Amino acid sequence: MGKPIMAKAEHDRTEAAAQEAVGHEPPLQRAERDLVALGILVAAIFLFVGTGSTVLTGIARSWIYGVGSPDVLLTNALILNIALLIFGWRRYVELQTEIAERRKAEESATRLARTDALTGCLNRRSLDDAIAQLVNAAAQSSEAVAVMMIDLDKFKRSNDLLGHKVGDAVLVETARRIEALMPTRSVVARLGGDEFVCAVIFAPGGENAVERLAVRINDGLAEPIISGGLRAEVTASIGIAVGASSALHSANQVAQDLLHRADLAMYQAKRRGRNRFAWFEPTMEKELRFRSELEQGIRDGLKRGEFVPYYEKQIDLETGEITGFEMLARWLSPRHGMVSPEVFIPVAEEIGLIAELSEALITLALEDAKAWDSSLTLSVNISPLQLRDPWFAQRLLKMLVAANFPPTRLEIEITETCLHENIAVVRSLITSLKNQGIRISLDDFGTGYSSLAQLRTLPFDRIKIDRSFVSSLARSADSASIVEAISSLGRGMALPITAEGIESAEVLSALRRFGNFKGQGYLYGQPASAEDVKRELAEQGLLVATPKDETPSTPPSALSA
Ligand code: C2E
Ligand code: MG
Ligand code: MG
Repeated sequence: MGKPIMAKAEHDRTEAAAQEAVGHEPPLQRAERDLVALGILVAAIFLFVGTGSTVLTGIARSWIYGVGSPDVLLTNALILNIALLIFGWRRYVELQTEIAERRKAEESATRLARTDALTGCLNRRSLDDAIAQLVNAAAQSSEAVAVMMIDLDKFKRSNDLLGHKVGDAVLVETARRIEALMPTRSVVARLGGDEFVCAVIFAPGGENAVERLAVRINDGLAEPIISGGLRAEVTASIGIAVGASSALHSANQVAQDLLHRADLAMYQAKRRGRNRFAWFEPTMEKELRFRSELEQGIRDGLKRGEFVPYYEKQIDLETGEITGFEMLARWLSPRHGMVSPEVFIPVAEEIGLIAELSEALITLALEDAKAWDSSLTLSVNISPLQLRDPWFAQRLLKMLVAANFPPTRLEIEITETCLHENIAVVRSLITSLKNQGIRISLDDFGTGYSSLAQLRTLPFDRIKIDRSFVSSLARSADSASIVEAISSLGRGMALPITAEGIESAEVLSALRRFGNFKGQGYLYGQPASAEDVKRELAEQGLLVATPKDETPSTPPSALSA
């Protein structure tokens, strides 16, 4: 749930302080010592009573009546006894003070163990109980409890940029601002890292008040924090869940449930763009379950070969001839049916399987494309994450060599998001690939923020206008002017253009006005399986007879590391 940026250090600090406060003597040893002292005192009192009466009577008799003299031995024993009594009494008083101090130390240790050392709020350990107590208190007045999970947005970046001292100051100030906004019956805790929780009791139907409180927290935390002359700006994402105790669930269960739900809602707030709050909705739980099913499905599906390449025709709009195919991944899931790459590619990226998935698909696609006429190209989409791998170019070439496929027939499509990554790495990778004869297209152009300068410094072979502009070309003046601008940009930079998303003859004729493009889209058919493509190409005489004997026209050479 939380990010343990500082949690460990603080935990250690708290433990150390707690130990220091209690002292290092083991409790058993201390108790033994106390018992001995108490024993000595009691024995001294008995002795004093026993010997005191005899000796003191002798002394009194000799003083008053001048008769006899007190027993010297017994008198000495009495003096010793008095010394013992004084010693025992002093020890007793010392013990009382020690006990009082120890109790104070233990109380302070408990407080330290319950609170966060940096901010002084409650900590993770004590939070469940604190919320459970709030749930119980709310139940007595037929009220409910709202739990808010508050996570600072991009705190790590500000921490890295401005230093940990400022980072700590931000956390302390965050706690202070949240606490200042809290009503009386509430708790505030820091879970560790930049994650805080607050819980409040609210009257039935008081959801609006809870929402207003969330808005105030959002606004309050968005105010810049000045520390050591540096200005930190952070915002927060807040997840809210409300609930009350019931006959079915204990206060502790309710507390844990509320925390879990507020956490799910907080992630939703992040996904919706941060610096906002989101209420927990039951669908979030379903989404989470679906998501983990999806992750497992992808892992299993990869092993079972459920991912297959589909192909979309690419057409020379002037002649109407097929120039090649774009490979589009499809997941034939036994559970979910045919799944779109827009669903599974982002998940595969997040769980670190994108390279494995993409390479399995490219291997299949190279085999399929070997059967096509040698004039036909194969385009594959590459994730920005794959481009971060310094060995990507080598691995791609190895696949080409293994499949005996000419690099000049391969085109890779990268999206503008790649250009926001490390541009130097991307440039050297593109150059390596181009040196081998592979062509590079900039996909979905117009949707990102690539500048003209970036376009100029990277040696692309083609730009593909995003389908959102093309498909609405005939009915939107804005789209038409964007397509026109991109086509004149292409002309100016001598970059060929592909228009994606041609859905109708109307769009096609509108496009023709702007120049000689390549195109693809549903007008030419939906993406099709390898068998369907093979059948269609056979009909057009575009299949090679014996693909296995074909030798690459430009054999790939080894890349320098
Ligand atoms: P993309 O590379 O821009 O691919 C074109 C998408 O537009 C495909 O969606 C295609 O089915 C769809 N499309 C084609 N013609 C039309 C049309 O006339 N109208 C409309 N509305 N859409 C059309 P698909 O197959 O769902 O792929 C979506 C995206 O997923 C692709 O966009 C690409 O970015 C990504 N993708 C697909 N396969 C892979 C892969 O193997 N690796 C990676 N990294 N990404 C992939
Ligand atoms: Mg593409
Ligand atoms: Mg595209």
